[in-house]
Amino acid sequence: MSEATVPGGGHRTPPLRSRLPQVGTTIFSVMSALAQQHGAVNLGQGFPDFDCDPRLLDAVNQAMRSGHNQYPPMPGVPALREAIAEKMESLYGHRYDPGSEITVTAGATQAILTVMLAVVHAGDEVILLDPCFDSYAPNIALAGGVAVHVPLTPGTFRPDFDRIAQALTPRTRLIVVNTPHNPSATVWTAGEMQQLTDLLRPTDVLVISDEVYEHMVYDRVRHESIARWPELAARSFVVSSFGKTYHVTGWKVGYVAAPAALTAEFRKVHQFNVFTVNTPVQHGLATYMRDPQPHLELADFYQRKRDLFADGLRATRLRPLPSAGTYFQCADYSGISDEGEHAFCVRLTHETGVAAIPMSAFYACPVEQGLIRFCFAKQSTTLERALERLRKL
Ligand code: GLN
Repeated sequence: MSEATVPGGGHRTPPLRSRLPQVGTTIFSVMSALAQQHGAVNLGQGFPDFDCDPRLLDAVNQAMRSGHNQYPPMPGVPALREAIAEKMESLYGHRYDPGSEITVTAGATQAILTVMLAVVHAGDEVILLDPCFDSYAPNIALAGGVAVHVPLTPGTFRPDFDRIAQALTPRTRLIVVNTPHNPSATVWTAGEMQQLTDLLRPTDVLVISDEVYEHMVYDRVRHESIARWPELAARSFVVSSFGKTYHVTGWKVGYVAAPAALTAEFRKVHQFNVFTVNTPVQHGLATYMRDPQPHLELADFYQRKRDLFADGLRATRLRPLPSAGTYFQCADYSGISDEGEHAFCVRLTHETGVAAIPMSAFYACPVEQGLIRFCFAKQSTTLERALERLRKL
C-alpha cells in the first residue's frame, strides 16, 4: 500500500483506552438518521418540528444588532438570571439569588455533566432511577463515579422508595431525579417528594433535579419542582432548559439553580468547561421572558397535541400508556409483535414509515417490555401523517 492510501499518511495513531468503552452513538441520533434514510415521520428524537415565536427571534436579532456579541459574565447575563429567578419564585415560591445561585448553561445536558464533575469524587456512588436519560450514566463515569441503577416500579414507573433506601450507602453522593420523566411521561406527586425529603434527611446526599419538561404537565396537575420543597432545595441542583420551553432545542441554552455553596463549586467547573454561553441568545431570552404567557400556555398547547396523538393511537393496534407530562407518549406494541424493542423500532421506521425510540435504550441493563416512545412535539399534520401510517400496523 502506498503511503498516500494509508489513513494518516502511514503514521501510526497511538491506541486509545476508551474512557467510555460501552458507549456508541446515542439512540436519538441513530433513529433520526434512520428516519431520514427511509423518509419516515420522525417521532423518535425529542424536538419540535415547528418554529419558535418570531418575537423570540426578533429579540435575539435585536440583541446581536445592539452589539451584545462579546463574552457575557461567566455565570450568565444578569438580566436573564434575574428573569429566571423571578419565574421560579412566581411558580414555585422559592427565591434563588440571581447573583450567587443561578448559572446559565449550554443546555441541560452540559449542566448535568458539570454538576457531576463538580461534586462526584472517584468512587462516589450516584443513584439513577432506570429508565433514565442516556447521558446520566456516561456523565458519572467521566466524573470517576459509580452509577447505582435502581429501577422505577415496572409497569407504573413510580419511584420505589424501599429500593432507593436499600441503594443508599455512605458512598452515595447524589441521586438524579427527573420529573416530568423522560421516557415514561410520568410526573412525581407531592407524596413522592415528601418521601424523598424524609429519605434524604439523615444523609448528605445531593440531588440533581432534571426538570427540563417543567412546563409540560397535563390535566391541571401541578409540577412538583424541587424548588417547592425547601428542605430538598437546600441540597439540590435544579436544571431546566429553554430549548424545551421555547421550541429552540438547537440553541442549547439552559440553567442551574442551586444554593450558593453548591453553585460556587458548580461555577468552578463551568468556567473551565464552556466558560460562557452565547451572549445574544441570553439577551434575547431575557427580553422574551418578560412575558410569562409563553411558558404559562405551554401545558395547554402540548396537552392538545397529546390528546390528538393518544386518541389517534387508540384507533391503532398500539396501546398508549398514560402521558402525564413531557412531550412523549409511550405505547405498548406487545399485541402486535413479540420482537425486541430495538428491532421493532427499526422495522417500524422502514416498513411503516414512523420512527420511535425503544424504551430499552433508557436502561443500563436493557429489559424488553414491548414499549416504545413517541415524541408528539409536532405539527398536527405530522401527527396525522404518522397516525395514518400506524393504523396500517
Ligand atoms: N431529550 C431528547 C430526547 O430524549 C433528545 C436529546 C438528544 O438527542 N440527545 O429525545
